[in-house]
Amino acid sequence: MVDMQREEWLSTLLSELPDRHLLIDKNGLIIESFGHIPLSTALSDNPTINTLLPPSLAEQLMQHALHALASGELKQFRYSISPCQQLQLSIEELESLSNTEERWFESTLKPLTRTNNAPYILWQEKDITEAYLHEAELKRLSETDELTGILNRRAFLLALENEMKQSQKQNVACLMIDIDHFKEINDRVGHLSGDEVITQVAHICQQSIRSNDYIGRLGGEEFGIVLPNTSAIEAYSTAEAIRTSIESTPCTVDGHTIYPTVSIGLAELNPTVTSVRELLVQADKAMYYSKQTGRN
Ligand code: GH3
Ligand code: MG
Ligand code: MG
Repeated sequence: MVDMQREEWLSTLLSELPDRHLLIDKNGLIIESFGHIPLSTALSDNPTINTLLPPSLAEQLMQHALHALASGELKQFRYSISPCQQLQLSIEELESLSNTEERWFESTLKPLTRTNNAPYILWQEKDITEAYLHEAELKRLSETDELTGILNRRAFLLALENEMKQSQKQNVACLMIDIDHFKEINDRVGHLSGDEVITQVAHICQQSIRSNDYIGRLGGEEFGIVLPNTSAIEAYSTAEAIRTSIESTPCTVDGHTIYPTVSIGLAELNPTVTSVRELLVQADKAMYYSKQTGRN
């Protein structure tokens, strides 16, 4: 520092900032850039945020920037960019990238209040890929049933609750599925092999539903399925397809061949149902009825 002019020193410090920092105006024109700018060699003469970001992201960023200016508050948002969307990279730079996965960024937009005439926004862009992926993995683990890989009870109930809020109480059907005589299966093959039967049944159920239906493990050998945009009659067909598919798929575990069957209860969301619990109680009652009247 002793030999440097203060300006030079500050400029050195700024260039050492670990994230990308840009000063932009209210039209998205980049006034200054400093800090870590990965591979940014191809910035044009009058660069704008469109030089760096694909159009839809640039538009979002501008909206956040203008909100930040209007409110005087920090704005933050997250997004992902694949390498081929990183517009400042040249073809050679793109080809040299070892990691072709998309990367996640968090942008912070800070309105600068002490610049007198022109309103500027300080835009910090931070690569949060590692933290984001870690967070996503933790979320996935917290929502997944370890044995079967489908939703766990908590995540299933939460998803059902959201579904109920969105659907305005119509055209949502719920299935409650319980493996028949499972205590006997456990007694025959042992608890660990019993687990394999539970997993097979879960997978057959999963293969029998559409991509926007969802299934969760509610307890030991009990599953719930939510069928959005589905009438009771359509849900009955799905339930019947699941029942016959399980019935006709033997499960070989530890030298034993098991022919599991399930009993299924069906409940339909309607204006009188006021909670997730009520819907599940109705499906459970229906399931109990199918147990009483012969199972499978
Ligand atoms: P039903 O036809 O009336 O359903 O008879 P069931 O024997 O299946 O009776 P129920 O559903 O009440 O009992 C389920 C049994 O599942 C009780 C418990 O020993 C067993 N179980 C619960 N959780 C697990 C699990 O995670 N793994 C295994 N292997 N067994 C479990
Ligand atoms: Mg049970
Ligand atoms: Mg059972």
